[in-house]
Amino acid sequence: MKTGKIIIFSGPSGSGKTTIVKHLLKKENLSLVFSISATSRVPRKGETDGKDYFFLKEKKFKEKIKNDEFLEHEEVYPGSFYGTLKKEINRIWGLGKNIIFDIDVIGGLKIKKKYPNQTLSIFLKTPNINDIEKRLIKRNLDSTKMLKIRFNKIHEEIKLAEKFDISLLNNDLDKAKNRAEKLVENFINN
Ligand code: 5GP
Repeated sequence: MKTGKIIIFSGPSGSGKTTIVKHLLKKENLSLVFSISATSRVPRKGETDGKDYFFLKEKKFKEKIKNDEFLEHEEVYPGSFYGTLKKEINRIWGLGKNIIFDIDVIGGLKIKKKYPNQTLSIFLKTPNINDIEKRLIKRNLDSTKMLKIRFNKIHEEIKLAEKFDISLLNNDLDKAKNRAEKLVENFINN
């Protein structure tokens, strides 16, 4: 199968990666298709199975790990598994498209290692951690306990930023979107 390019967006939750990924998906010239991950976490309000994630019960998720169906998988938060199904990647490449990932830092680095030359890995940073924490509190999607877990993870993830091809600072969303678009366009066309 002819394989396309891979674009990875990682970075702390609240860094704006989902917004930037959505922006890039609208750009037809980039021929990007979003890699829908599998997760064992419960759907949030407004999320659809097969669109945002493939929502699986933990037992089913673990069965798929055993059957070697994942390209990578992580227990991103205690008790919540996330992973990229090999089937999903083959589906997108089968369409002749490039793949874009919104994935945690460890998972992103694993994929980069598997496909070093055809992957552009971008770490999205915000100017300071306080901003991210404020954004996460404001979006009001998590319990206090979950927020604490997310904040701890942010500190761990920032330490790995230098392992990415590019660190992109998001202190102005429009500028970050434009910069991301240029970087991806350049990578895909070369
Ligand atoms: P959320 O629960 O907020 O949707 O996602 C939590 C974290 O899991 C985010 O950092 C997201 O990028 C990451 N994530 C989503 N899908 C995958 C995946 O397939 N593999 C890995 N390793 N992380 C993922």
